[in-house]
Amino acid sequence: MFDNLSSSFSKIFSTLSRAKIVTESHIDDAISQIKLSLLDADVDLKVVKSFTEGLKPKLLGQDVVKGVKPVEMIIKITQDELAAILGSDFETIYKPHGAKKVIMMVGLQGSGKTTSTAKLALHLKSKYQINPIVTSLDFRRPAAQEQLKILAQNNNISIFEDSTAQDVITKTRHCLDASKNHELLLLDTAGRTQIDDELMQELVEIKKIAKPDEILLVVDALIGRQSLDVAQKFHDLLGLTGVILTRVDGDGRNGVALNIRHTLGVQIKYFGTGEKISNFEEFHPDRIASRILDMGDVVSLVEKAQELIDEKETTDMMAKMQKGQFDMNDLLKQLQALKKFGGIGKILGFLPGAAHLKEAMNANGMGKDFITKQEVIILSMTKTERSNPQIILKSSSRLKRVADGSGTKIADVNRVLNRFFEMKTIMDKVAKTNPKLAADPNAKLSQGDLMSLLQGGGAKKKSDLNPNKKRYKF
Ligand code: GDP
Ligand code: MG
Repeated sequence: MFDNLSSSFSKIFSTLSRAKIVTESHIDDAISQIKLSLLDADVDLKVVKSFTEGLKPKLLGQDVVKGVKPVEMIIKITQDELAAILGSDFETIYKPHGAKKVIMMVGLQGSGKTTSTAKLALHLKSKYQINPIVTSLDFRRPAAQEQLKILAQNNNISIFEDSTAQDVITKTRHCLDASKNHELLLLDTAGRTQIDDELMQELVEIKKIAKPDEILLVVDALIGRQSLDVAQKFHDLLGLTGVILTRVDGDGRNGVALNIRHTLGVQIKYFGTGEKISNFEEFHPDRIASRILDMGDVVSLVEKAQELIDEKETTDMMAKMQKGQFDMNDLLKQLQALKKFGGIGKILGFLPGAAHLKEAMNANGMGKDFITKQEVIILSMTKTERSNPQIILKSSSRLKRVADGSGTKIADVNRVLNRFFEMKTIMDKVAKTNPKLAADPNAKLSQGDLMSLLQGGGAKKKSDLNPNKKRYKF
Protein backbone atom coordinates (compact mmCIF):
# COMPACT_ATOMS: atom_id res chain seq x y z
CA MET A 1 0.00 0.00 0.00
CA PHE A 2 1.09 3.56 -0.68
CA ASP A 3 4.04 1.94 -2.43
CA ASN A 4 4.40 4.60 -5.09
CA LEU A 5 4.30 7.45 -2.62
CA SER A 6 6.64 5.60 -0.27
CA SER A 7 9.29 5.06 -2.89
CA SER A 8 9.10 8.70 -4.05
CA PHE A 9 9.51 9.98 -0.49
CA SER A 10 12.25 7.48 0.11
CA LYS A 11 14.19 8.85 -2.87
CA ILE A 12 13.63 12.47 -1.86
CA PHE A 13 14.93 11.85 1.65
CA SER A 14 17.90 9.82 0.53
CA THR A 15 18.97 12.68 -1.77
CA LEU A 16 18.63 15.08 1.17
CA SER A 17 20.56 12.82 3.48
CA ARG A 18 23.54 12.93 1.15
CA ALA A 19 23.76 16.74 1.40
CA LYS A 20 26.26 17.90 4.02
CA ILE A 21 24.37 21.09 4.73
CA VAL A 22 20.71 21.45 3.84
CA THR A 23 20.11 24.80 2.18
CA GLU A 24 16.93 26.57 1.13
CA SER A 25 17.46 25.37 -2.41
CA HIS A 26 17.60 21.75 -1.21
CA ILE A 27 14.30 22.31 0.54
CA ASP A 28 12.78 23.95 -2.53
CA ASP A 29 13.88 20.99 -4.62
CA ALA A 30 12.48 18.52 -2.12
CA ILE A 31 9.17 20.39 -1.98
CA SER A 32 8.77 20.43 -5.73
CA GLN A 33 9.52 16.69 -5.82
CA ILE A 34 6.96 16.12 -3.09
CA LYS A 35 4.43 18.16 -5.08
CA LEU A 36 4.98 16.06 -8.17
CA SER A 37 4.73 12.75 -6.40
CA LEU A 38 1.54 13.76 -4.60
CA LEU A 39 -0.07 14.93 -7.83
CA ASP A 40 1.04 11.72 -9.47
CA ALA A 41 -0.64 9.76 -6.66
CA ASP A 42 -3.89 11.54 -7.53
CA VAL A 43 -3.89 13.92 -4.60
CA ASP A 44 -6.09 16.91 -5.34
CA LEU A 45 -4.23 20.08 -6.38
CA LYS A 46 -5.81 22.10 -3.58
CA VAL A 47 -4.66 19.57 -1.03
CA VAL A 48 -1.16 19.44 -2.48
CA LYS A 49 -0.90 23.23 -2.36
CA SER A 50 -2.13 23.48 1.16
CA PHE A 51 0.25 20.74 2.23
CA THR A 52 3.39 22.07 0.59
CA GLU A 53 2.68 25.71 1.42
CA GLY A 54 2.32 24.79 5.07
CA LEU A 55 5.42 22.63 4.95
CA LYS A 56 7.96 25.08 3.58
CA PRO A 57 8.04 27.68 6.40
CA LYS A 58 8.19 24.89 8.94
CA LEU A 59 11.12 23.25 7.19
CA LEU A 60 12.98 26.53 6.80
CA GLY A 61 12.25 27.65 10.33
CA GLN A 62 13.42 24.46 11.95
CA ASP A 63 15.79 24.88 14.85
CA VAL A 64 18.95 22.91 14.57
CA VAL A 65 18.79 20.35 17.33
CA LYS A 66 22.11 19.00 18.48
CA GLY A 67 22.62 15.38 17.57
CA VAL A 68 19.73 15.28 15.11
CA LYS A 69 20.60 15.23 11.43
CA PRO A 70 18.81 17.86 9.31
CA VAL A 71 17.21 15.14 7.20
CA GLU A 72 15.76 13.52 10.32
CA MET A 73 14.20 16.82 11.33
CA ILE A 74 12.80 17.22 7.83
CA ILE A 75 11.29 13.74 7.91
CA LYS A 76 9.75 14.36 11.32
CA ILE A 77 8.20 17.69 10.25
CA THR A 78 6.93 16.20 6.98
CA GLN A 79 5.45 13.28 8.87
CA ASP A 80 3.58 15.55 11.29
CA GLU A 81 2.23 17.69 8.43
CA LEU A 82 1.17 14.62 6.49
CA ALA A 83 -0.57 13.18 9.54
CA ALA A 84 -2.42 16.47 10.02
CA ILE A 85 -3.70 16.31 6.43
CA LEU A 86 -4.76 12.69 6.93
CA GLY A 87 -6.89 13.60 9.93
CA SER A 88 -6.94 13.75 13.69
CA ASP A 89 -6.06 10.87 16.01
CA PHE A 90 -7.98 7.65 15.49
CA GLU A 91 -11.03 7.29 17.68
CA THR A 92 -12.78 3.99 17.97
CA ILE A 93 -16.34 3.81 16.70
CA TYR A 94 -17.27 1.36 19.42
CA LYS A 95 -17.03 2.06 23.13
CA PRO A 96 -17.56 -0.93 25.38
CA HIS A 97 -20.43 -0.86 27.86
CA GLY A 98 -22.32 1.86 26.03
CA ALA A 99 -25.82 1.62 24.60
CA LYS A 100 -26.38 -0.57 21.54
CA LYS A 101 -24.88 0.92 18.42
CA VAL A 102 -26.11 0.88 14.86
CA ILE A 103 -23.66 1.30 11.99
CA MET A 104 -24.89 1.89 8.47
CA MET A 105 -22.58 1.21 5.54
CA VAL A 106 -23.17 3.12 2.31
CA GLY A 107 -21.36 3.53 -1.00
CA LEU A 108 -21.32 2.81 -4.70
CA GLN A 109 -21.77 -0.70 -6.02
CA GLY A 110 -18.55 -2.68 -5.92
CA SER A 111 -16.83 -0.29 -3.51
CA GLY A 112 -16.51 -3.07 -0.94
CA LYS A 113 -19.50 -2.46 1.38
CA THR A 114 -20.46 -6.07 1.92
CA THR A 115 -16.89 -7.23 2.43
CA SER A 116 -16.15 -4.29 4.76
CA THR A 117 -19.32 -4.95 6.77
CA ALA A 118 -18.03 -8.45 7.56
CA LYS A 119 -14.46 -7.21 8.10
CA LEU A 120 -15.58 -4.49 10.50
CA ALA A 121 -17.90 -6.84 12.41
CA LEU A 122 -15.11 -9.37 12.84
CA HIS A 123 -12.55 -6.73 13.79
CA LEU A 124 -14.80 -5.24 16.50
CA LYS A 125 -15.86 -8.69 17.64
CA SER A 126 -12.30 -9.80 18.33
CA LYS A 127 -11.10 -6.44 19.62
CA TYR A 128 -13.90 -5.94 22.15
CA GLN A 129 -15.06 -9.55 22.69
CA ILE A 130 -18.60 -8.65 21.65
CA ASN A 131 -21.18 -10.32 19.46
CA PRO A 132 -22.10 -7.96 16.64
CA ILE A 133 -24.88 -8.83 14.21
CA VAL A 134 -24.93 -7.96 10.51
CA THR A 135 -27.76 -7.81 8.04
CA SER A 136 -28.05 -7.13 4.33
CA LEU A 137 -30.50 -4.47 3.20
CA ASP A 138 -29.55 -4.99 -0.43
CA PHE A 139 -32.65 -6.05 -2.34
CA ARG A 140 -31.23 -4.88 -5.64
CA ARG A 141 -28.60 -7.48 -6.44
CA PRO A 142 -30.01 -11.00 -6.24
CA ALA A 143 -26.87 -12.56 -4.72
CA ALA A 144 -26.09 -9.72 -2.32
CA GLN A 145 -27.82 -11.18 0.73
CA GLU A 146 -26.27 -14.58 0.07
CA GLN A 147 -22.80 -13.01 -0.19
CA LEU A 148 -23.05 -11.48 3.29
CA LYS A 149 -24.47 -14.72 4.65
CA ILE A 150 -21.49 -16.73 3.41
CA LEU A 151 -19.00 -14.20 4.76
CA ALA A 152 -20.77 -14.20 8.14
CA GLN A 153 -21.00 -17.98 8.34
CA ASN A 154 -17.37 -18.52 7.40
CA ASN A 155 -16.24 -16.14 10.09
CA ASN A 156 -18.66 -16.91 12.92
CA ILE A 157 -20.41 -13.57 12.73
CA SER A 158 -24.10 -13.43 13.69
CA ILE A 159 -26.41 -12.53 10.84
CA PHE A 160 -30.04 -11.48 10.78
CA GLU A 161 -32.03 -13.07 7.98
CA ASP A 162 -35.65 -12.47 7.18
CA SER A 163 -37.44 -14.51 4.59
CA THR A 164 -40.74 -12.71 5.20
CA ALA A 165 -39.51 -9.20 4.40
CA GLN A 166 -39.76 -8.33 0.74
CA ASP A 167 -38.55 -4.76 1.01
CA VAL A 168 -35.82 -2.74 2.68
CA ILE A 169 -38.04 -0.84 5.09
CA THR A 170 -39.73 -3.93 6.54
CA LYS A 171 -36.42 -5.71 6.94
CA THR A 172 -34.87 -2.66 8.62
CA ARG A 173 -37.71 -2.61 11.17
CA HIS A 174 -37.49 -6.35 11.77
CA CYS A 175 -33.74 -6.36 12.27
CA LEU A 176 -33.86 -3.51 14.77
CA ASP A 177 -36.29 -5.54 16.87
CA ALA A 178 -34.37 -8.78 16.48
CA SER A 179 -30.95 -7.36 17.36
CA LYS A 180 -31.81 -6.21 20.88
CA ASN A 181 -29.35 -8.58 22.53
CA HIS A 182 -26.42 -7.54 20.39
CA GLU A 183 -24.07 -4.71 21.30
CA LEU A 184 -23.74 -3.73 17.68
CA LEU A 185 -25.81 -3.91 14.51
CA LEU A 186 -24.19 -3.40 11.12
CA LEU A 187 -26.41 -2.59 8.15
CA ASP A 188 -25.06 -3.42 4.70
CA THR A 189 -26.95 -1.44 2.06
CA ALA A 190 -27.37 -1.53 -1.71
CA GLY A 191 -25.28 0.50 -4.10
CA ARG A 192 -25.45 1.57 -7.72
CA THR A 193 -22.73 2.15 -10.22
CA GLN A 194 -23.67 5.83 -10.07
CA ILE A 195 -25.58 7.89 -7.60
CA ASP A 196 -29.29 8.02 -8.41
CA ASP A 197 -32.24 9.60 -6.64
CA GLU A 198 -34.12 6.39 -5.97
CA LEU A 199 -31.20 4.80 -4.20
CA MET A 200 -30.51 7.94 -2.20
CA GLN A 201 -34.13 8.10 -1.15
CA GLU A 202 -33.91 4.51 0.05
CA LEU A 203 -30.84 5.30 2.14
CA VAL A 204 -32.53 8.36 3.65
CA GLU A 205 -35.51 6.17 4.64
CA ILE A 206 -33.23 3.58 6.25
CA LYS A 207 -31.47 6.34 8.16
CA LYS A 208 -34.81 7.68 9.44
CA ILE A 209 -35.87 4.30 10.78
CA ALA A 210 -32.58 2.88 12.02
CA LYS A 211 -31.21 6.15 13.43
CA PRO A 212 -27.63 4.92 13.00
CA ASP A 213 -24.90 6.20 15.30
CA GLU A 214 -22.43 5.94 12.46
CA ILE A 215 -22.89 6.26 8.72
CA LEU A 216 -19.72 5.03 7.06
CA LEU A 217 -19.05 5.63 3.40
CA VAL A 218 -17.09 2.85 1.72
CA VAL A 219 -14.80 4.28 -0.96
CA ASP A 220 -12.65 2.37 -3.43
CA ALA A 221 -9.19 3.96 -3.34
CA LEU A 222 -8.58 2.94 -6.94
CA ILE A 223 -11.22 5.20 -8.44
CA GLY A 224 -9.05 8.17 -7.61
CA ARG A 225 -10.12 11.76 -7.68
CA GLN A 226 -13.68 11.25 -8.87
CA SER A 227 -14.39 9.51 -5.56
CA LEU A 228 -14.43 12.97 -4.00
CA ASP A 229 -17.58 14.07 -5.89
CA VAL A 230 -19.29 10.84 -4.97
CA ALA A 231 -18.32 11.20 -1.33
CA GLN A 232 -19.51 14.81 -1.28
CA LYS A 233 -22.96 13.79 -2.56
CA PHE A 234 -23.34 11.03 0.04
CA HIS A 235 -22.17 13.45 2.71
CA ASP A 236 -24.61 16.21 1.71
CA LEU A 237 -27.54 13.85 1.80
CA LEU A 238 -26.79 11.57 4.71
CA GLY A 239 -24.27 13.35 6.90
CA LEU A 240 -21.41 10.86 6.98
CA THR A 241 -19.60 10.15 10.23
CA GLY A 242 -16.64 8.39 8.67
CA VAL A 243 -15.08 6.69 5.67
CA ILE A 244 -13.73 3.20 5.03
CA LEU A 245 -11.18 3.19 2.26
CA THR A 246 -10.86 -0.09 0.37
CA ARG A 247 -8.32 -1.54 -2.08
CA VAL A 248 -5.47 0.34 -0.51
CA ASP A 249 -3.51 -2.79 -1.42
CA GLY A 250 -3.77 -2.09 -5.11
CA ASP A 251 -0.94 -0.60 -7.12
CA GLY A 252 -3.26 2.31 -7.68
CA ARG A 253 -2.64 5.88 -6.82
CA ASN A 254 -3.74 5.90 -3.24
CA GLY A 255 -3.58 9.65 -2.83
CA VAL A 256 -7.33 9.66 -2.31
CA ALA A 257 -6.57 9.03 1.38
CA LEU A 258 -5.13 12.52 1.57
CA ASN A 259 -8.03 14.13 -0.26
CA ILE A 260 -10.93 12.87 1.76
CA ARG A 261 -10.35 14.34 5.17
CA HIS A 262 -9.08 17.63 3.81
CA THR A 263 -11.91 18.13 1.34
CA LEU A 264 -14.92 16.67 3.19
CA GLY A 265 -13.83 17.12 6.74
CA VAL A 266 -14.81 13.49 7.32
CA GLN A 267 -12.31 11.18 8.95
CA ILE A 268 -11.14 7.91 7.41
CA LYS A 269 -11.80 5.32 10.10
CA TYR A 270 -10.64 2.03 8.62
CA PHE A 271 -9.05 0.73 5.46
CA GLY A 272 -9.02 -2.52 3.55
CA THR A 273 -5.79 -3.91 2.15
CA GLY A 274 -6.96 -7.06 0.40
CA GLU A 275 -9.80 -9.45 -0.25
CA LYS A 276 -9.18 -11.52 2.86
CA ILE A 277 -11.33 -10.77 5.87
CA SER A 278 -8.24 -10.05 7.99
CA ASN A 279 -6.97 -7.44 5.52
CA PHE A 280 -8.51 -4.60 7.46
CA GLU A 281 -6.95 -1.97 9.68
CA GLU A 282 -7.71 1.04 11.81
CA PHE A 283 -6.70 4.28 10.15
CA HIS A 284 -4.27 6.07 12.45
CA PRO A 285 -3.09 9.21 10.60
CA ASP A 286 0.27 9.34 12.38
CA ARG A 287 1.03 5.70 11.63
CA ILE A 288 -0.12 6.01 8.03
CA ALA A 289 2.05 9.10 7.55
CA SER A 290 4.95 7.08 8.86
CA ARG A 291 4.23 4.28 6.39
CA ILE A 292 3.89 6.71 3.50
CA LEU A 293 7.28 8.13 4.38
CA ASP A 294 8.64 4.58 4.45
CA MET A 295 9.37 4.86 8.16
CA GLY A 296 7.34 1.78 9.08
CA ASP A 297 4.51 1.18 11.50
CA VAL A 298 5.57 -1.39 14.02
CA VAL A 299 2.73 -0.59 16.44
CA SER A 300 0.10 -1.71 13.92
CA LEU A 301 2.15 -4.79 13.07
CA VAL A 302 2.19 -5.91 16.69
CA GLU A 303 -1.55 -5.22 17.06
CA LYS A 304 -2.29 -7.25 13.94
CA ALA A 305 -0.13 -10.10 15.22
CA GLN A 306 -2.05 -10.15 18.48
CA GLU A 307 -5.31 -10.28 16.56
CA LEU A 308 -4.29 -13.06 14.19
CA ILE A 309 -1.81 -15.28 15.94
CA ASP A 310 -3.00 -17.82 18.44
CA GLU A 311 -1.22 -17.05 21.70
CA LYS A 312 -1.12 -20.67 22.90
CA GLU A 313 0.16 -21.97 19.60
CA THR A 314 2.90 -19.35 19.60
CA THR A 315 3.94 -20.22 23.15
CA ASP A 316 4.00 -23.93 22.36
CA MET A 317 6.05 -23.28 19.29
CA MET A 318 8.45 -21.03 21.17
CA ALA A 319 8.96 -23.80 23.72
CA LYS A 320 9.76 -26.28 20.94
CA MET A 321 12.10 -23.85 19.28
CA GLN A 322 13.88 -23.19 22.51
CA LYS A 323 14.38 -26.90 23.08
CA GLY A 324 15.63 -27.42 19.55
CA GLN A 325 12.58 -29.50 18.62
CA PHE A 326 11.24 -27.25 15.86
CA ASP A 327 10.36 -29.34 12.80
CA MET A 328 8.73 -28.99 9.40
CA ASN A 329 5.25 -29.36 10.90
CA ASP A 330 5.93 -26.23 12.92
CA LEU A 331 7.31 -24.46 9.92
CA LEU A 332 4.12 -25.31 8.06
CA LYS A 333 2.04 -23.80 10.87
CA GLN A 334 4.15 -20.66 10.78
CA LEU A 335 3.79 -20.34 7.03
CA GLN A 336 0.04 -20.67 7.41
CA ALA A 337 0.07 -17.95 10.07
CA LEU A 338 2.06 -15.73 7.73
CA LYS A 339 -0.55 -16.36 5.06
CA LYS A 340 -3.28 -15.16 7.41
CA PHE A 341 -1.37 -11.92 7.60
CA GLY A 342 -1.56 -11.72 3.83
CA GLY A 343 2.05 -12.78 3.23
CA ILE A 344 5.47 -11.41 3.89
CA GLY A 345 4.87 -8.45 1.59
CA LYS A 346 2.09 -7.25 3.91
CA ILE A 347 4.35 -7.62 6.94
CA LEU A 348 7.15 -5.78 5.20
CA GLY A 349 4.72 -2.97 4.49
CA PHE A 350 4.75 -2.20 8.21
CA LEU A 351 8.53 -2.01 8.49
CA PRO A 352 10.87 0.92 7.96
CA GLY A 353 12.50 0.84 4.54
CA ALA A 354 9.74 -1.41 3.21
CA ALA A 355 10.05 0.00 -0.30
CA HIS A 356 13.66 -1.20 -0.55
CA LEU A 357 13.03 -4.49 1.23
CA LYS A 358 10.22 -5.39 -1.16
CA GLU A 359 12.38 -4.74 -4.19
CA ALA A 360 15.13 -6.90 -2.69
CA MET A 361 12.71 -9.73 -1.92
CA ASN A 362 11.28 -9.75 -5.39
CA ALA A 363 14.76 -9.77 -6.86
CA ASN A 364 15.59 -12.83 -4.74
CA GLY A 365 12.61 -14.86 -5.88
CA MET A 366 10.76 -14.19 -2.61
CA GLY A 367 7.82 -12.45 -4.25
CA LYS A 368 4.12 -13.09 -4.01
CA ASP A 369 3.91 -16.91 -4.13
CA PHE A 370 6.95 -17.47 -1.99
CA ILE A 371 4.91 -18.72 0.98
CA THR A 372 2.41 -20.76 -1.01
CA LYS A 373 5.20 -22.54 -2.86
CA GLN A 374 6.91 -23.52 0.39
CA GLU A 375 3.59 -24.61 1.83
CA VAL A 376 2.78 -26.92 -1.11
CA ILE A 377 6.24 -28.44 -0.92
CA ILE A 378 5.92 -29.17 2.80
CA LEU A 379 2.41 -30.53 2.30
CA SER A 380 3.82 -33.01 -0.21
CA MET A 381 6.05 -34.52 2.46
CA THR A 382 4.86 -37.36 4.67
CA LYS A 383 4.39 -36.77 8.40
CA THR A 384 7.58 -38.71 9.15
CA GLU A 385 9.51 -36.63 6.66
CA ARG A 386 8.19 -33.45 8.20
CA SER A 387 9.31 -34.49 11.67
CA ASN A 388 12.67 -35.65 10.38
CA PRO A 389 13.46 -33.84 7.14
CA GLN A 390 17.05 -35.11 7.00
CA ILE A 391 15.75 -38.36 5.48
CA ILE A 392 14.61 -36.46 2.40
CA LEU A 393 18.05 -35.02 1.83
CA LYS A 394 19.52 -38.50 1.98
CA SER A 395 17.17 -40.05 -0.56
CA SER A 396 16.93 -38.91 -4.15
CA SER A 397 13.69 -40.84 -4.64
CA ARG A 398 12.08 -38.95 -1.73
CA LEU A 399 13.33 -35.66 -3.12
CA LYS A 400 11.87 -36.46 -6.52
CA ARG A 401 8.55 -37.58 -5.04
CA VAL A 402 8.15 -34.34 -3.06
CA ALA A 403 9.07 -32.27 -6.11
CA ASP A 404 6.62 -34.16 -8.34
CA GLY A 405 3.90 -34.07 -5.70
CA SER A 406 4.18 -30.32 -5.34
CA GLY A 407 4.60 -29.63 -9.03
CA THR A 408 7.99 -28.04 -8.38
CA LYS A 409 11.62 -28.86 -9.15
CA ILE A 410 14.10 -30.73 -6.98
CA ALA A 411 16.04 -27.49 -6.63
CA ASP A 412 12.94 -25.86 -5.10
CA VAL A 413 12.58 -28.65 -2.56
CA ASN A 414 16.27 -28.35 -1.71
CA ARG A 415 15.86 -24.64 -1.21
CA VAL A 416 13.01 -25.14 1.27
CA LEU A 417 14.97 -27.79 3.14
CA ASN A 418 18.08 -25.64 3.26
CA ARG A 419 16.12 -22.68 4.53
CA PHE A 420 14.63 -24.89 7.22
CA PHE A 421 18.01 -26.22 8.36
CA GLU A 422 19.35 -22.72 8.32
CA MET A 423 16.55 -21.55 10.63
CA LYS A 424 17.12 -24.52 12.88
CA THR A 425 20.79 -23.70 13.09
CA ILE A 426 19.98 -20.17 14.20
CA MET A 427 17.38 -21.40 16.65
CA ASP A 428 19.79 -23.88 18.20
CA LYS A 429 22.35 -21.15 18.40
CA VAL A 430 19.90 -18.80 20.10
CA ALA A 431 18.97 -21.55 22.55
CA LYS A 432 22.61 -22.30 23.30
CA THR A 433 23.68 -18.71 23.70
CA ASN A 434 20.62 -17.87 25.80
CA PRO A 435 20.42 -20.76 28.26
CA LYS A 436 17.90 -18.82 30.34
CA LEU A 437 15.61 -18.60 27.36
CA ALA A 438 15.96 -22.30 26.68
CA ALA A 439 15.22 -23.20 30.28
CA ASP A 440 12.15 -21.01 30.59
CA PRO A 441 9.28 -21.89 28.23
CA ASN A 442 7.56 -18.65 29.21
CA ALA A 443 10.46 -16.47 28.15
CA LYS A 444 9.61 -15.00 24.80
CA LEU A 445 11.41 -13.65 21.84
CA SER A 446 9.66 -10.61 20.45
CA GLN A 447 7.32 -11.13 17.48
CA GLY A 448 9.91 -9.32 15.37
CA ASP A 449 12.67 -11.72 16.41
CA LEU A 450 10.35 -14.63 15.76
CA MET A 451 9.49 -13.46 12.28
CA SER A 452 13.09 -12.82 11.39
CA LEU A 453 14.12 -16.20 12.68
CA LEU A 454 11.46 -17.87 10.63
CA GLN A 455 12.15 -16.09 7.43
CA GLY A 456 15.82 -15.51 7.96
CA GLY A 457 18.43 -16.31 5.42
CA GLY A 458 17.53 -17.90 2.18
CA ALA A 459 20.48 -20.27 1.93
CA LYS A 460 21.48 -21.27 -1.54
CA LYS A 461 24.31 -23.71 -0.80
CA LYS A 462 24.90 -26.14 2.03
CA SER A 463 27.91 -24.10 3.15
CA ASP A 464 25.52 -21.19 3.71
CA LEU A 465 24.14 -23.13 6.63
CA ASN A 466 27.26 -22.36 8.60
CA PRO A 467 25.92 -20.16 11.41
CA ASN A 468 29.18 -18.23 11.53
CA LYS A 469 28.51 -16.89 8.07
CA LYS A 470 26.40 -13.78 8.59
CA ARG A 471 23.78 -13.71 5.91
CA TYR A 472 20.61 -13.16 7.87
CA LYS A 473 19.72 -9.78 6.66
CA PHE A 474 16.14 -9.26 7.88
P1 GDP B 1 -20.19 -3.91 -2.59
O1 GDP B 1 -20.87 -4.00 -3.92
O2 GDP B 1 -19.91 -2.47 -2.24
O3 GDP B 1 -20.90 -4.62 -1.52
O4 GDP B 1 -18.75 -4.56 -2.77
P2 GDP B 1 -18.23 -6.01 -2.31
O5 GDP B 1 -18.04 -6.04 -0.84
O6 GDP B 1 -19.09 -7.05 -2.91
O7 GDP B 1 -16.77 -6.01 -2.95
C1 GDP B 1 -16.54 -6.04 -4.33
C2 GDP B 1 -15.22 -6.76 -4.58
O8 GDP B 1 -14.14 -6.03 -4.03
C3 GDP B 1 -15.15 -8.13 -3.96
O9 GDP B 1 -14.58 -9.01 -4.87
C4 GDP B 1 -14.23 -7.94 -2.76
O10 GDP B 1 -13.53 -9.12 -2.45
C5 GDP B 1 -13.32 -6.86 -3.24
N1 GDP B 1 -12.75 -6.06 -2.16
C6 GDP B 1 -13.39 -5.43 -1.14
N2 GDP B 1 -12.53 -4.78 -0.34
C7 GDP B 1 -11.29 -4.99 -0.87
C8 GDP B 1 -9.95 -4.57 -0.51
O11 GDP B 1 -9.71 -3.84 0.45
N3 GDP B 1 -8.95 -5.00 -1.33
C9 GDP B 1 -9.17 -5.79 -2.42
N4 GDP B 1 -8.12 -6.17 -3.15
N5 GDP B 1 -10.39 -6.18 -2.79
C10 GDP B 1 -11.44 -5.81 -2.03
MG1 MG C 1 -22.79 -5.48 -1.49
